[in-house]
Amino acid sequence: MKVNLQELFEGQKNTIDIEVQEPYKNFNCYNEEISFKEPVVFRGQAYRVNHEVFLKATVEGVALLKCHRCLTPFEQRIVHHIQERVTVGNHEQDEEDELFSVQDYLLDVSDIIENSLVLAFPMKVVCDENCKGLCLVCGTDLNENPCECEKSEIDPRLLKLKDLLQKD
Ligand SMILES: [Zn+2]
Ligand SMILES: [Zn+2]
Repeated sequence: MKVNLQELFEGQKNTIDIEVQEPYKNFNCYNEEISFKEPVVFRGQAYRVNHEVFLKATVEGVALLKCHRCLTPFEQRIVHHIQERVTVGNHEQDEEDELFSVQDYLLDVSDIIENSLVLAFPMKVVCDENCKGLCLVCGTDLNENPCECEKSEIDPRLLKLKDLLQKD
């Protein structure tokens, strides 16, 4: 979805409200395919101050994720705030600036949404900070019930010590 900002750049308007909703299915983020519960919403305003054009917006969506520790599906709200100057594009800019520069006054909101989702994606995909995860030995979800495996799990360094002690 592209939004035309020509009237802002030419001064016929001082603000343009922008609201875009885009559904995302199997959005690829850090090699993970993510779906969103509802369409992702971009809501904001492009405005003109002192002959310059700025964009202030919020991108918000609810990602359907799977906990990396216990594999339980959970929902996470992803929010990203944008406050950037919008420039008229030329060919010498680097890629990052390209996102907020317009060709023919057309701002590519879809690109900005995608970039926001990647930037705001959680570092740790866990259902809860304190998620205990699955037992690596028996696969039991340790959040639901403890298993017996833990008792036999001994630090490998201690195991060596135990061997030595037994030999004596
Ligand atoms: Zn979990
Ligand atoms: Zn276990």
